[in-house]
Amino acid sequence: MKRLAILGATGSIGTQTLQVVDAFPGQFQVVILAGHSNWQLLLRQACQYHPSCVIITEPSAYEKFKQENADKQLVVLCGMSGVLQALEQFPVDMMVGAMSGAAGIEPTLKALELGIDLALANKETLVSGGSLVRRAQQKSGAQILPVDSEHSAIFQCIEPNSSCLHKILLTASGGPFRTWNKEQLSQVTKEQALKHPNWSMGQKITIDSATLMNKGLEVIEANWLFQVDYDHIQVLVHPQSVVHSMVEYGDGTVLAHLGKADMRIPIQYALTWPQRQGNPFPKLDFTQLAGLEFFAPDYEKFPALALAYDVGRTGKSAPAILNGANEVAVAAFLQDKIGFMDIPALVAQVVGCHNPIEIESFAHLIELDQWARQQAWQYVQQHQ
Ligand code: NDP
Ligand code: MG
Repeated sequence: MKRLAILGATGSIGTQTLQVVDAFPGQFQVVILAGHSNWQLLLRQACQYHPSCVIITEPSAYEKFKQENADKQLVVLCGMSGVLQALEQFPVDMMVGAMSGAAGIEPTLKALELGIDLALANKETLVSGGSLVRRAQQKSGAQILPVDSEHSAIFQCIEPNSSCLHKILLTASGGPFRTWNKEQLSQVTKEQALKHPNWSMGQKITIDSATLMNKGLEVIEANWLFQVDYDHIQVLVHPQSVVHSMVEYGDGTVLAHLGKADMRIPIQYALTWPQRQGNPFPKLDFTQLAGLEFFAPDYEKFPALALAYDVGRTGKSAPAILNGANEVAVAAFLQDKIGFMDIPALVAQVVGCHNPIEIESFAHLIELDQWARQQAWQYVQQHQ
């Protein structure tokens, strides 16, 4: 039985990970579950999966969980320190990193340090702390299996012994505003932005998908995961979300990964790798497809994507600044404090005020991240 720690268990990826666990009885043991504020769902999950330890990172939710929990065997911990303690105390074979945002960085580094394989959904960790993650991984030799659908697709299309990988073709649905003009984009409401045409996901990534910042973060994620330079990572808008990404080889061959837009497929592949196993989830019916389209992205209408390429090429601390500023921008948009097109403008302004430097350590990264957030909140105050 593969022992799992699932961080972000109460979120979209976390709950779908548990559906994958359900689909393979006897194959996985849930040892650690971590959530942030949704203590009721975490309590139900604890009753169903009987983990050894549960962590609630939000203190008031932790108190409520403790009051309602009747299982005296269950170890219940609080905060990020609780997550780190649990990873040290309860042996697991794999950690599913499904927290949202930069909160995922510290446990990811801890898991790698302990030699625990990672099923990584939390792209913000790679964007912000890619150099630290890589260093920690090289030291311990732990595996990183991508959960992000595009990166799982690329991972599956890369031939381990090929010496002529030419480029990565990273597909993007284009989000709900693909066909909108600039004027319309300036009027976007949060209700409209939270309706993704093809995927049902957490709020932060749904907004990122609408601005195309998500694709920008994924370009940087691909650079770290596959060591392919930015000139050889091409984003292709593909509204049907059937081709999850492709890899082009020097002989002109293109290998593509196709499937339903169902995150349980890449989650399962990360959990069962190197095996591919059958599952009961719905399969793609080609006779129902009206067609597959591919377009170049519109960098002018969606400046976040061009900005992420620039920042990725700059490297060093620049992507961490982009990520911190973007997290604040999305939060401010969801609180109706700034408009939709203020998101890329805010991020560009904060990135523009920063002089990129090498990230020395986790503490240094947190300092940089905090700086970016402060600058971003200042922008929000000025533009309210
Ligand atoms: P959700 O918002 O649905 O879930 C986020 C999870 O993280 C919840 O369990 C939440 O807890 C927890 N969380 C939130 N804030 C904190 C915090 N400060 N500290 C610790 N835990 C926290 O997000 P998704 O599941 O959609 O996304 C998770 C990650 O996976 C993101 O990095 C995203 O980019 C990535 N991803 C998601 C995809 C998707 O289809 N959803 C696809 C590809 C990547 P609670 O709810 O209890 O407050
Ligand atoms: Mg993705």
